[in-house]
Amino acid sequence: MNRPASERHCLTPAPGGLGLVQELLNTAPAERPGRPDVPDLLADGALGAAQEWADQAVRDWARETGRADARLTLTEEDLPKLRCLRDQVRRALGAGDRGGDAVRFTSAPVVVGLAGDGTLTLEPEGAGARWLASAVLAEALLAQASDVWRRLKICRNAPCAAAFYDRSRNNSGVWHSVRGCGNAAHVRACRERRRVQA
Ligand SMILES: [Zn+2]
Repeated sequence: MNRPASERHCLTPAPGGLGLVQELLNTAPAERPGRPDVPDLLADGALGAAQEWADQAVRDWARETGRADARLTLTEEDLPKLRCLRDQVRRALGAGDRGGDAVRFTSAPVVVGLAGDGTLTLEPEGAGARWLASAVLAEALLAQASDVWRRLKICRNAPCAAAFYDRSRNNSGVWHSVRGCGNAAHVRACRERRRVQA
């Protein structure tokens, strides 16, 4: 299985290393139109599910970014830190809070490397939640520099809030699925209009 968290929303992954940021966001619990809800993959007491997610997400990231295999080992203490990071990245994308701790600033060390062929790389540092924060912030920085960060969005349907990569030409998408969340919102709006008229 590829991109295990985003797969729950049937999403096409964001390109390259940005897919790791999308994966972190999509570990959040969500309601899916017409389908069962999905649980938080980073919930306390569910380290097994979190580790399984991390194994696959980090392997996908290594493959997408042309690295040798990377591995991330999580502990119970990492889980609240990762949920906090997830909330902060969500806020950075302009989406509302989901009741997480309000953190104003997160920092993580990265190593900037210059290879013999002239290629510059950003390598995550640390272990556990700190390593993931380092990788996610580095990918967000690269995405901002190449102007694709604005294409990573949170679905406007609040109970869903899936993170999707907007591939529309004018970057105008607001729903992760127009047929699912877009249609559900349309039906709600029609019902509300009828209620007001009545
Ligand atoms: Zn949605």
